[in-house]
Amino acid sequence: MRVNIDGRKLLNFSGNDYLGLANHPNVVCALKRGVDRFGVGSGSAHLIVGHSSAHHDLEDELAEFIGCQRVLLFSNGYMANIGVVSALLGKSSIVFEDRLNHASLIDGGLLSGAKFRRFPHTDLGLLEKHLQRQAEDKQKLIVTDGVFSMDGDLAPLNGLVRLKKRTGSWLMVDDAHGLGVIGQNGRGIVEQSNVDGNDIDVLVGTLGKAFGTFGAFVAGTEELVEFLIQKARTYIYTTALPPSIAEASRESLRLVQNESWRREKLLDLVSQFRTGAESMGLQLLQSPTPIQPIVIGDSQATVELSNRLTAKGIFVIPVRPPTVPKGSARLRITFSAMHESADIERLLNVLHDCL
Ligand code: PMP
Repeated sequence: MRVNIDGRKLLNFSGNDYLGLANHPNVVCALKRGVDRFGVGSGSAHLIVGHSSAHHDLEDELAEFIGCQRVLLFSNGYMANIGVVSALLGKSSIVFEDRLNHASLIDGGLLSGAKFRRFPHTDLGLLEKHLQRQAEDKQKLIVTDGVFSMDGDLAPLNGLVRLKKRTGSWLMVDDAHGLGVIGQNGRGIVEQSNVDGNDIDVLVGTLGKAFGTFGAFVAGTEELVEFLIQKARTYIYTTALPPSIAEASRESLRLVQNESWRREKLLDLVSQFRTGAESMGLQLLQSPTPIQPIVIGDSQATVELSNRLTAKGIFVIPVRPPTVPKGSARLRITFSAMHESADIERLLNVLHDCL
């Protein structure tokens, strides 16, 4: 897991290639075969002639993996989120979003024209109060990240499902950082939380992170997908993903399913890091995932720390407001199944020297 910066090879702890599939030879080969068979571009939007058998097969295989009726591919997660939220909601609806939701979910909510409410991070009590204030027949959508992208913690999915049922709301989960990574079979937050997948009205997954390729998908019922095909403007009015990327993603999906050692190794690396960091007295967040931030607070101090790490051969990007709340600048450390135990040890030693 190295990144080449200005001719220097640094140990990379900043990517989202959690399973190490972005450079996997089978995935690379699948992409090349896809190009030979389908050419480079898809040629048009899905609803014109851009939808190929590669897209179709990937959608079917993802639906089987997730255990839902149907899946719809989008060009990326950003477009999936704004397309879905703004298709589902209108001026008379109301959307409730966790304060730490990804920007694309927030933008989707704002774009939809629905009444917009943010609740404090994972605070089910306040969310319930907000929900109870709404008329019974009002269309209500609760939206959350599955794994929070800058903190690595998990949405309280069991509680959210109970709340959605009690209040007649819909629940949408963006599991961009959970799918492939958590849950015994890589089925993400739903599997990890032991929730019935049918209770999640809309599940979003991305292919550019654990799957190591590019693109995104929405999983749900036949009815949801048919509705999105008619209404989601970011699905309708854009060129379909290159089919070769879909072929590469099909290969990634096979690896996600067949090579559980990648998830197991990741968990071991995370646990090695947490034990080492805690014994150094470092304050970590409540994260069971490969996203292990160290919150520094001050932006300038965070950038300086990141620079000191870089000088010692470790690349960790400093993340500052507005990407994270004011006063919570951090090193967003992430792990991949391509890291080795010795890499974690090196990171810990360098952190020890630099902090
Ligand atoms: N959702 C979450 C939670 C994300 O972290 C990201 C990417 N950082 C996205 C959606 C957007 O996905 P994509 O990169 O495929 O546009």
